[in-house]
This record gives sequence, C-alpha cells and structure tokens, in this order.
Amino acid sequence: MIRNILLIYTGGTIGMIKNNNTLSPFNFDKLHSAFPELKDCGSSLSHITISKPIDSSNMNIDQWIELANSINKNYNQYDGFVILHGSDTMAYTASMLSFMLENISKPVILTGSQLPIGIKRTDAKENLITSIEIAASNIIKEVCVYFEYKLYRGNRVVKINADNFDAFQSPNYPILAQAGVKIKYKKQYLSPQSSATFNVHTKISNDVAILKIFPSIKKEVVIAILNSATGIILETFGSGNATTEGWFILELEKGIKKGKIIINISQCLSGSVNQGHYQTSKSLEKSGVLSGHDMTTEAALTKLMFLLANKSNNISVREKIEINLRGEMTI
Ligand code: ASP
Repeated sequence: MIRNILLIYTGGTIGMIKNNNTLSPFNFDKLHSAFPELKDCGSSLSHITISKPIDSSNMNIDQWIELANSINKNYNQYDGFVILHGSDTMAYTASMLSFMLENISKPVILTGSQLPIGIKRTDAKENLITSIEIAASNIIKEVCVYFEYKLYRGNRVVKINADNFDAFQSPNYPILAQAGVKIKYKKQYLSPQSSATFNVHTKISNDVAILKIFPSIKKEVVIAILNSATGIILETFGSGNATTEGWFILELEKGIKKGKIIINISQCLSGSVNQGHYQTSKSLEKSGVLSGHDMTTEAALTKLMFLLANKSNNISVREKIEINLRGEMTI
C-alpha cells in the first residue's frame, strides 16, 4: 500500500549550501532536485517549507507553533510526517512537539544531517530515506528522531557530538529501532497507539531559565537566575546533589514560596535524580524542589514551557512535572 508522507523542511545543514565558505539554508525545491532518489522511495511524498527556513540555532516558539499547526492541518491527509531539521536544537523541537501533539497516533520523524546533501560523503541521504521508510511503516505512533541508523524517542535524545555522524544519544531510554539490512523495531519500547482524540496544544511559555550550578557559584548569580523566570531547571551534580550552604537553600525556598517551579535535573548525561539519597539533595527536596527523575534538560525545559502555558494554576504544574506525560521520564 502506497503511503502518503509529508516532508516538512525547516532548514538545517541537510539543506544548506556553501556561500563564501559559510553554510546557509536554501530553498527546499533545490534539495528535491539535488536528491532525485526521493522520487523513487515507494511512498507518495509531498513537501512544505516553514515560512522562513533557518539554521536550527534560530529555532523559537513561533516555529514550533507553525510546525504543530502544519501537522494538525495535514493530519488526516497523511500517514506520517518527516521533519527536516538542523541537529543543533533537534532535541528541543522533538521534545516540544511531543508535548504539543497529544495522543498522536501517526509517526512524526525528525531528521537532519551533519553534512549537506550535495556533499559526496553526506549522511543526509540515508537519514532522509530511512526516515521516510519509518514514517511509512505504520509502526511508530509518536514523535521520534532518526539519525545514523538509530531511531530514538524524541523527548529522550540529546545531541552529544558536533563532528560525528552519530550525533545523538538517548541516555535513559533504549533506542526504538536499529536500521541495518532491515529496520528492526524494538516493539516493547514503542509508545502504544492512543485511542484518545488527537489534540494539538499551541500555547507555549518562555518564562523559564536554566541554573547550572558549579563549585563556588556566586549568590548574585543564583539570585539573578531565580528572579529571571517562573520555571527554573536546576542542573545539579550526580544524582541531584547541590551545595548545602544556607544561603543557597534559603534562596530556593524564597523562590518556591513566591510560586516559582524548580526542577532538579542531573548534569550527568545518564542516570536519574534521586532526591534524599544524599544529604546534599535532601535539603533540596525539603525546600520544595521537584525531582526531574531521568528527564533530559531539553525534555524538562520544554515540559515546563508547555505546562506553564497550559496551566490552571501553579499547583497543577507542580503535580504534572513529576508525572510521565509522553514517555519523557521513567519513574
Ligand atoms: N547549525 C546546524 C543547524 O542546527 C547544524 C545541523 O543542521 O546539523 O541548523
């Protein structure tokens, strides 16, 4: 059965050309002609481009809303969606879309490349062709990232390498599929088909900040970041530990009393926050800091941006942070 796949081009290295030795995005139609294999990939392909293709370092809330709206508008006409995206912020977009697209029952596969499509050794062709095959397979029902022979849950990935083709990792959740001679899906790890109605949320708040602690961090720095936003990701050491200095805990407590939402996320690439395991995290727990368990910073930040914009009150945000909403954390 021929499946209808919509490619959504947002920019990124995959579609860039060199101008005076600098890479900048070009028009998607050129990508199509540079890559004639697309015509012969077994699916019926259509494509759209977001209003202004970008290097994904320029990704922002408006483009996330545009992407979610495009998927919503085309949801019934297509069997799957492939989003061509720069790898730099792909983990943020994949996480954000997983929250915006509630009860999705079709594949949304984000992919990109480390080398532009016109370059001989490009990784773009494999990434794109296999993403299309996955989007057409009728197996995946969630937002994913496909890169360098691996399919990942979108809200579990982090970009870990700026040079290698193998640029992503899912440190706290198994890969969903491995592409070799065949694409082997790991069915036990896939999100199940949702029977609830597909619902697109297009409200996002950027009233958030990240406070990455380090030994000897200054009080002024902590206060400035705490005062800058309602939702704060507190990036801590190891399993969620931080200094026990009185002023530090007091500032966190003051912030939480004022209604701030502070989420404890580990600076370690893998593993989980376990508040209370060490004395150095017990005081965070007591002051009202929430555990982000094994969420990536990207997932925790976008979850906060989503929940703050869709809240009835701060208590409901606090409750939902520690609930697994879209497979983004293991409890
Ligand atoms: N700077 C590029 C971007 O994120 C890198 C890439 O596409 O891999 O758009």
